Amino acid sequence: MSHPVRGRFGPFGGQYVPETLMGALEELENVWHEAKADPQFQLELAGHRRAFVGRPTPLYAATRLGEHFGGAHIHLKREDLCHTGAHKLNNAVGQALLALRMEKKRVIAETGAGQHGVAVATVAARFGLECTVYMGTEDMRRQSMNVRRMKLLGAEVKEVTSGSKTLKDATSEAIRDWVTNVRTTHYIIGSVVGPHPYPELVRDLQRVIGDEAREQYLFADGKLPDVVIACVGGGSNAIGIFTAFLDDKDVALVGVEAAGSGLQSGKHAASLVGGRPGVLHGTYSYLLQDGEGQVTPTHSISAGLDYPGVGPEHAFLRDSERVEYLAVTDQDAVAAFKLCTKLEGIMPALEPAHALHHAGVMARQFGPGGRILVCLSGRGDKDMDSVEGS
Ligand SMILES: *Cc1c(COP(=O)(O)O)cnc(C)c1O
Repeated sequence: MSHPVRGRFGPFGGQYVPETLMGALEELENVWHEAKADPQFQLELAGHRRAFVGRPTPLYAATRLGEHFGGAHIHLKREDLCHTGAHKLNNAVGQALLALRMEKKRVIAETGAGQHGVAVATVAARFGLECTVYMGTEDMRRQSMNVRRMKLLGAEVKEVTSGSKTLKDATSEAIRDWVTNVRTTHYIIGSVVGPHPYPELVRDLQRVIGDEAREQYLFADGKLPDVVIACVGGGSNAIGIFTAFLDDKDVALVGVEAAGSGLQSGKHAASLVGGRPGVLHGTYSYLLQDGEGQVTPTHSISAGLDYPGVGPEHAFLRDSERVEYLAVTDQDAVAAFKLCTKLEGIMPALEPAHALHHAGVMARQFGPGGRILVCLSGRGDKDMDSVEGS
């Protein structure tokens, strides 16, 4: 990676925010850099990862799936076994510790699938922080179980009725709250999106996925996989696992976006595959927009991938061709969800089911010698209604 400009990945990234937030972003960046270099902080973070999140998560050989697809070796990095059921807690724990370090007693968050909201409500409970979560009406309906979890954890869930009533609108509301309450409040962004330093900070907190997986894979197999596959919503689980392999030139990296009803239908959430660069929520990256630059409505059966933007580092990795991005439809993701559940006894979330579908496609291409690592970013209990209804 050549001469990074602070807060930029090539031309992407930056800080497109109101002046009132610049101080808070700078404070966050400084605190993170201090904390990263502080052995005491690292020790504390490692302790919470082990005893609270449940790390390291296992690397699992999905032998029956591999056989089904013609004999390739498929391994799953089991982020579904993290406390609260997804990789999101890796980030939330780290940012809660930073909130404490900044002496901020309130945290806010946006949430789509509810997974990030649950992760933030969970760390707020654990560390005694006040918590407000913004969530669109439509997502509250789709993910009512997570709304109940957040409320039981003591968070206030604020319904967002504007726009498409989904994640994009919830994010805009959370930013509004932050502008108003910035002195007392830390905004825990849930993915590698938003203004600098978030894309970097969230990546640093999620790279534990790939650091563990790379070591586990080498230990189990003696060499590295041919390809690492992860689903991409905002892109945090994907960056989390990819970062450890970026310098391994023989390891192909594939990011899988949501093609919804199909790319041609226009009803999808594939920002990198079907979008153009523009500014959304404080950062310059690929996004789904119309001819006038208005952000267009998205569709995916999985709420966690249903976001019109994507992290700026992914935009850079796309344009520099280090990572290949493609998109998988709702229908194929549901089929992969069912297959993994039946063959492995592991019910994946619909988000990583997109990656699992593509793992099957690549397994067939590779044949028996193929070696594939998939990030299983979360578990699928939350998606049973969507799957049964589809
Ligand atoms: C939120 C979520 C995603 C999408 O978010 P990324 O930032 O792209 O990782 C993927 N999988 C699961 C299980 C999620 O909860």
